[in-house]
Amino acid sequence: MMRVGIGYDVHRLVAGRKLILGGVEIPSEQGLLGHSDADALLHAITDAVLGAIGQPDIGCLFPNSDPRWKDHPSGYFLEHALQLAAQSGYHVANIDAVLIAEQPKLAPFIDLMRSNIAKLTAVEKSQVNIKATTNEKLGFVGRGEGIAALAVVLLYQLSSQKG
Ligand code: MG
Repeated sequence: MMRVGIGYDVHRLVAGRKLILGGVEIPSEQGLLGHSDADALLHAITDAVLGAIGQPDIGCLFPNSDPRWKDHPSGYFLEHALQLAAQSGYHVANIDAVLIAEQPKLAPFIDLMRSNIAKLTAVEKSQVNIKATTNEKLGFVGRGEGIAALAVVLLYQLSSQKG
């Protein structure tokens, strides 16, 4: 039994915030604005996991009106989603994601993000793939106003105790 989910997220780039993607802090004059640490990549992956198991999205589980999640590391949200999946016997087969950013250049940090996400999700690095692309200067991403992330996660079921 396998299930697939898709996730998308975008956050605005502003001065005075850290830029954190895939749990990795990236040197940048601007960072992503959000209630938590605004890690758009981990949010997209978390939503893909939740989507695969038919759960409400990250904003429902961790509302931005809740002070507990203020500046919270987003790895926690992903771990929680994976625990929900594991309760139904589902584990990560593979993760594929795309980061869309005009700047800064993300390529030098991709390997570190993959290692970090593999550790968070308890899989091999070879099961985590991340690409970075620009938006060819088009739209809000192209103007450098924000960074977007897309993710697909495939889960497989080890046992069928719980549907
Ligand atoms: Mg988000």
